Amino acid sequence: MDFEAVKTSPAYVFDQDAILDNLKPLESLREATGCKIIYSIKALPLLAVLELLKGRVDGFSVSSLFEARLAREVLGEQGGSVHLTTPGLRTDEFAEISQLCSHISFNSLSQQVRLFEAEHRHYSAGLRVNPKLSFVDDDRYNPCRQHSKLGVDWQLLAQGLPQGVEGLHFHTVFSREDFVPLLATVKKLLPLLKQHPLKWLNLGGGYLYNRIQDQQALINLILELQQNFGLEVYLEPGKALVGNAGYLLTTVLDRFVSDGKIILVLDTSVNHHPEVFEYQRQPSLHVTEVGQEKAILAGSSCLAGDVFGEYSFAMLPDVGSQLVFANVGAYAMVKASRFNGYNLPDVYLNYQGCVDLNKRYFYQEYRQQLCK
Ligand SMILES: *Cc1c(COP(=O)(O)O)cnc(C)c1O
Repeated sequence: MDFEAVKTSPAYVFDQDAILDNLKPLESLREATGCKIIYSIKALPLLAVLELLKGRVDGFSVSSLFEARLAREVLGEQGGSVHLTTPGLRTDEFAEISQLCSHISFNSLSQQVRLFEAEHRHYSAGLRVNPKLSFVDDDRYNPCRQHSKLGVDWQLLAQGLPQGVEGLHFHTVFSREDFVPLLATVKKLLPLLKQHPLKWLNLGGGYLYNRIQDQQALINLILELQQNFGLEVYLEPGKALVGNAGYLLTTVLDRFVSDGKIILVLDTSVNHHPEVFEYQRQPSLHVTEVGQEKAILAGSSCLAGDVFGEYSFAMLPDVGSQLVFANVGAYAMVKASRFNGYNLPDVYLNYQGCVDLNKRYFYQEYRQQLCK
């Protein structure tokens, strides 16, 4: 991709061509099985991305009223499914949410009892089930952890599902590169599926379809679910579509030595890439020649721990050099903040080989957030 065309810094660059490439394995799954693909927009709800995917996916999956509004606005009245699940469903928002969404998976039995109405419904009601089968070591992103807030314990459903529930939803992993958890989870839930006739089953997100070569096991699974139980099967990937399609371009603002190590201060910070700090992950750099020169890449905020990590270079970047972080497509832009009063990065899009400025933020928007 042509980073030369990015004239300002810091900047997010989203590669729409790569997003369409990421869609290919999902399109072939859909072709082989007839399953439905819905994009989980929380990973990157950028309007241009939603417009790009509209018509290519079967709908969007959302977690809140605002996401539901945005999804419906892009899709139009009849333009596809909008699936919602969240622990945070509010009574005062539910009337609008239930108009916008085609499917709502209640997160708890109590939520379902409080908000579900059998009459005059526009949506199909489901339950998020928690299969209590963990595949994630780090409990911070393990929906199946002890005392989880996400979904109804599957054992509570063994006695029967509430009247009117037509579907089940589960989502249990993050960035998986194989289908082992999916197969095991469906196997564990089979008794529920055998007991209760349902219309649909949503298998959630969390799988990096573009990094899984052999799809046959999943194809077989979906075909069996459809044939044996008459289910409509949904997949709702987020990061799989956009994760590797985003970059954060930054410029070195300052260079000095601290306790014997070289510090490069960047014109960005972990506030533009919050998962670096949240999960203490070191993000990878895009096409940098690795060598003997080492430096610590640090953000420009006041936080001492605002550090990306120690990197090695063939040639030490100088003040004014540009660096590009890779894999910034999911969960970065949408979580970014203007902490310390630093502006949000500009947004550039790559489409059919052309890189163009899509969005720039201004002081007025910063001020507006903070003033009445
Ligand atoms: C976040 C989320 C997704 C998408 O997850 P990815 O890891 O980005 O694929 C799908 N479904 C639910 C319920 C989610 O919370």
